[in-house]
Amino acid sequence: MPLTALDIYKVLPKTNCGECGIPTCLAFAMQLATKKAAIDACPYATDDAKATLAGAAAPPIRLVSIGPDAQCIVMGNETVMFRHEETFYHPTAIAVRIRTDRSPDELKAEFERVQAMVYDRVGQFVRVEMVALEDADGDPGRFAAAAALADGMGLALMLMSDAPAAMEAALAGISAHRPLLYAATADNWEAMAALAKARACPLVVRGKDLNELADLTRKIGALGLTDLVLDSGARGLPATLTDLTQIRRLALRRQFRPLGYPAMAFVTSQDPIDQVTEGTAYLCKYAGLVVTDGLQDWQALAMVTARQNIYTDPQKPIQIEPGVRAIGKPDASSPVLITTNFSLTYFTVEADVEASRTAAWALIVDTEGQSVLTAWAADKFTAETIAKALAASDLAERVNHRKAVLPGGVATLSGKLEELSGWEILVGPRESAGMTMFMRNRWRPSEAAATS
Ligand code: SF4
Repeated sequence: MPLTALDIYKVLPKTNCGECGIPTCLAFAMQLATKKAAIDACPYATDDAKATLAGAAAPPIRLVSIGPDAQCIVMGNETVMFRHEETFYHPTAIAVRIRTDRSPDELKAEFERVQAMVYDRVGQFVRVEMVALEDADGDPGRFAAAAALADGMGLALMLMSDAPAAMEAALAGISAHRPLLYAATADNWEAMAALAKARACPLVVRGKDLNELADLTRKIGALGLTDLVLDSGARGLPATLTDLTQIRRLALRRQFRPLGYPAMAFVTSQDPIDQVTEGTAYLCKYAGLVVTDGLQDWQALAMVTARQNIYTDPQKPIQIEPGVRAIGKPDASSPVLITTNFSLTYFTVEADVEASRTAAWALIVDTEGQSVLTAWAADKFTAETIAKALAASDLAERVNHRKAVLPGGVATLSGKLEELSGWEILVGPRESAGMTMFMRNRWRPSEAAATS
């Protein structure tokens, strides 16, 4: 909870000396509460007062970064329980657990498989970000070699070992890339915390339950370590989801600092479909990191797609640049298709046009990321806006005809659009899935050329 002016006033000197530029301490407190002044302006503020204000200003869930600068993974700093209240800011990282008890060639192949899990989804590249490298046999040399191999391939890592000696060996050459260390427990927290502090690496803290977890983060926090990730120790969907929800609720609604860190979860299901369901549940509520075994390509695609949806700002639809795009290799006789700059709309149209085996020019009208009917209802996809976009484009030079295809859902715009633009407007299918039939039955390039 943010401090009120009265809370702040209680820790100020209350001398009303005016040296802060404001006549009274109470007025200064009111300025601080609304963030219009900084505590440094009061030369008499005690260290305690400064610490109180700094603590209140800290985010309820700490922002933690992991991995090399080039592909830094950021988690935490979330502000709401429910996405519709605002948005979720930092997409859950997904890690594939790989054990070290295999040959270097097998390990390399596994790492390459994770590296290849990158997908182009509605104009954004989404990926599986991390490898959770598990020390399978307590052999420091083998663990260090595997960590060096993965790090050399540019992978962000979570190093998993309960043995501080193995962790130290693995960190020797790669700590500058800030791998996440897993994990400090009631048995080893002093050694693990010392290692994390010496190497400036983020650290997972694992408790048997939330009470033990909070106790451990208090102790580790007192050593000056702040980049922590929480593992409540729960396994299985119901228990893990309960703990993740409790952690988020306590951090946001009670400002409970010992649990004010991003949390993580392990997928424990064995069935491949259940694995996706379980992992997706955790990334919806409320894991900053999900670790799963043996992820296959189709599972990864399902999870990153779900994550992309959950972490899209509900008030800012994913958009593409307005203007003209080529679908396939269009030429002067290719059709001109009118659509909006809502990513999902455009990429659906693009896929359906490609499926029709026709090349086309797409005129993408700026509708602030709204779909055809939504933009039409909001007066952003009108005859005027389309005619303006058409006139501003270079389509008249690109094609040898003056025909454009309007989405069937807004057929009512066709007459006025013809008047304003001077182009012949053909009413296309209501859904772009009808594009194949439309191209076959309604679009005749030779006829189009003849009308130019
Ligand atoms: S300088 Fe400090 S003590 Fe003086 S009025 Fe401002 S807040 Fe109060």
